[in-house]
Amino acid sequence: MANQEIPTRIAEIKKANPGNLMARHFNAEYFTSLSETDQQQLLKICASGIENPDSSMGAYAMNPQDYDRFAPQLDPMIRDFHGINADSPIKQQHDWNTSRNICDLGEINEQLKDVSMRVRVARNVSTFPLPGAMSQQQRVEFENLASSAFDELIKNPEYGGQYLSITPGSPNEISADEYRSRVAAHQMFKDMSADPYLNVAGISGDWPFGRGMYVSKDEDFLVWVGEEDHLRIMAMQSGGNLNAMFARLATGLEILGQLLPPFATSPTYGNVTSCPTNLGAGMRASLHMKLPNSTSGGTDLSQLKQEAKNLGLAVRGAGGEHSDAGSDGLVDISPSARLGVTEMQIMQRLYDGAAALWALEQGG
Ligand code: ADP
Ligand code: MG
Repeated sequence: MANQEIPTRIAEIKKANPGNLMARHFNAEYFTSLSETDQQQLLKICASGIENPDSSMGAYAMNPQDYDRFAPQLDPMIRDFHGINADSPIKQQHDWNTSRNICDLGEINEQLKDVSMRVRVARNVSTFPLPGAMSQQQRVEFENLASSAFDELIKNPEYGGQYLSITPGSPNEISADEYRSRVAAHQMFKDMSADPYLNVAGISGDWPFGRGMYVSKDEDFLVWVGEEDHLRIMAMQSGGNLNAMFARLATGLEILGQLLPPFATSPTYGNVTSCPTNLGAGMRASLHMKLPNSTSGGTDLSQLKQEAKNLGLAVRGAGGEHSDAGSDGLVDISPSARLGVTEMQIMQRLYDGAAALWALEQGG
C-alpha cells in the first residue's frame, strides 16, 4: 500500500473497529508531515493494528526511543488505554517497599488460601532494539547475554535452578516434550509463531531462536527470554501470601538488574515495553480464581468482565490472554492499569479486587 493511501485505510478501520486504539487516534496530519523514513518507521509500529483491525491497542514499539520520538501518535493512545486525561501529567513512580502488609488472601476466605498467584514485570535492555526489530543474530546474542546473568544467579543458593533454551543447537536446549510440559504447567510461554498480532509486528520473528526460560530451584522465580519483551521476570506461588510473592520478585529483579545492561526507560513513561499497555510499572499481578457462579460455570465471562472492569481489573481465561475460562469457572484476574500506578498499588488493587469479586461470587 502506498503511504498516501494509509490515512484512508486507517479511517475505514476506525469506522469498522471503534475499539482499535491505533485507528481511533491515528493522526493523519501528523503522519503526512513526517519524512518518508519516519513514515516507514511509524507504519512498522502501527502495522499490527492495520493488518489486524480487531486489535485493541494496534501498535507495538520497535525501539525504546519510539515512545518519545512518535509521541504525537502514541501518547493519545497510551492515555486512552491507561485512563489518563490529555492535560494531566503522566507521573510514573515506583514503590517496591516490601515491608508493608498487602495481606494474605487466606484472610478473605479459607478457600483462597490455595490460589495460584503470579506477578511479572516486563523489562527490555537499552542496548538492543525491541523484539519487533531484532535480527535473528541479535536475538541469540541477547539470549547469550541473559544466559550469562542466569549462570551467576544459579550460583546463588536462594535461586539455583537452570536455564532452558528452545534455540536449536543451544547447549541448554530442551526437548519438544519438555517445552510442552512447561507450557502446560503455566511456566513457559506459548509458541508465538501462531499469534497473528505478534507475527505482523515482527515480535515472533525467527521463532524459536533466542527464546528460553530461567527457572529457580523452587520453581517460584522465572524469567522468560525473547517473548513480547526481552525479559519477563516473574514470581509464581500458591498459597495466598501476596507479600511473600511480591518480595520474591523484588529481590530477584534487583539482583538480575545488576547482572544485565541497564533497562530501557523513558522519562515520561517509566519502563519501556513493546506493547503500550505494559508501560510504566510493566507489571501484571494475577490470581487464578475459581468463580463458577459469576461465570455461569465458565461459559459466560461477560458479566464478570463488567464487574471486574468497575474494580479496575481485567479477566482472562486460565490459559492466559485470548484463552477461555475453565469449566469450573477458573479465570485469571489482574489489575489493568500499569502506567501511573506503583508496584505496591497494583498489589493492593489485586487484593481489594479479589475480595470484592469473591463477595459477589458468594452473592454479596
Ligand atoms: P502475561 O502477558 O502477563 O505474561 P499471559 O496471559 O500471556 O500473561 O499468561 C502467561 C502464562 O501465565 C499462561 O500460561 C497463564 O496461564 C499463566 N498465568 C497467569 N497468571 C497465573 C496465575 N495467577 N497462576 C498460574 N498461572 C498463571
Ligand atoms: Mg502475554
